[in-house]
Amino acid sequence: MSEAKFSAVMKALEPLHVDALLVFGLVNIRFLSGFSGSDAALFQTSRDRFLLCDARYTLQARSEASLCEVSEYKTKLEGIVSQLRESDCKRVAFDAEQVPVSFFNSLTAALPEFEFIPLTDQLDQLRAVKSPEEVKAIELSAQLASSAFEQLLPIIRPGVSERTLAIELEMIMKRGGADEKAFDFIVASGERGALPHGRPTERLLRAGEFVTFDFGACCNGYNSDETVTVAVGEPDKKLLEIYRVVKEAHDLALAAVNPGIECRVIDAIARTHIKSCGYGDHFRHGLGHGVGLEVHEMPTLSPRSSHSVAEGMIFTVEPGVYIPGLGGVRIEDMVLVTADGCRILSSVDKELTVC
Ligand code: ZN
Ligand code: ZN
Repeated sequence: MSEAKFSAVMKALEPLHVDALLVFGLVNIRFLSGFSGSDAALFQTSRDRFLLCDARYTLQARSEASLCEVSEYKTKLEGIVSQLRESDCKRVAFDAEQVPVSFFNSLTAALPEFEFIPLTDQLDQLRAVKSPEEVKAIELSAQLASSAFEQLLPIIRPGVSERTLAIELEMIMKRGGADEKAFDFIVASGERGALPHGRPTERLLRAGEFVTFDFGACCNGYNSDETVTVAVGEPDKKLLEIYRVVKEAHDLALAAVNPGIECRVIDAIARTHIKSCGYGDHFRHGLGHGVGLEVHEMPTLSPRSSHSVAEGMIFTVEPGVYIPGLGGVRIEDMVLVTADGCRILSSVDKELTVC
């Protein structure tokens, strides 16, 4: 948390001609202030900033959001209403996607003299470019997750269930220092590999098939995201071919990452390769997404993306091919965009591992 973030946000809001910002989203609040509790609001003018919370969080807010004045409320609505009335502001931007309509209606009914301007993606854009401290936090999560997966490799064998592997991976990750898992892991073996988001089941691994693991760690609020597909014993030829195609698409996309390139161009590089190998109909999701305080955030790498790559962004590159009745392959790495390319933060080797 820093002064720089507060001034960057006020600068980003200049085109809206507002005199204050009201933030409801907990992730946005954490990004701006450092506060990690589960209920609060942030009110920021060009001079002052207030973290509004109830009595459960007053002490925590004072220590985490040290650049904010902490203001305790009995009810959130009354707290926000009185804080805004005390200010000399009239035009207030707010993160519209983060507040329930019912709450917002009550707020505007209580403050008819105020004008509320919904933000579009101004905060998401700021969050997409990571500070050196954020890079460090994400790097730590990525290392813990990759190292946990490497420790899992010896127990990936025929007869073990997807569920057992998911539970083991989570335990190894937490023992290694992760605060929590970044999301519910995907473990999809054999034919189930054709499900891009297959939840782990009691299905037992069999020799000759692939297993896809999609996993991540969360430390200090910052997430990682990585996917590894491994072979259990000698795989069939068709699966090997799919692996080669996806790995080539992954490598081509990574080589194209550079500040200034449009995200949809990187997506197209991977997609065109997969299509040219005859699997175009089997790659039906975007190539990647930003990762930070949320597992999915800006930028988006997809055919419809309007985002461009900038130094300091962290995002995934995760092409996949999924064939119903056979199985699937996805290979996902998380990269930090540097001045002249990118650095891969996830570290499990993506050459095919045969367990
Ligand atoms: Zn993933
Ligand atoms: Zn992902």
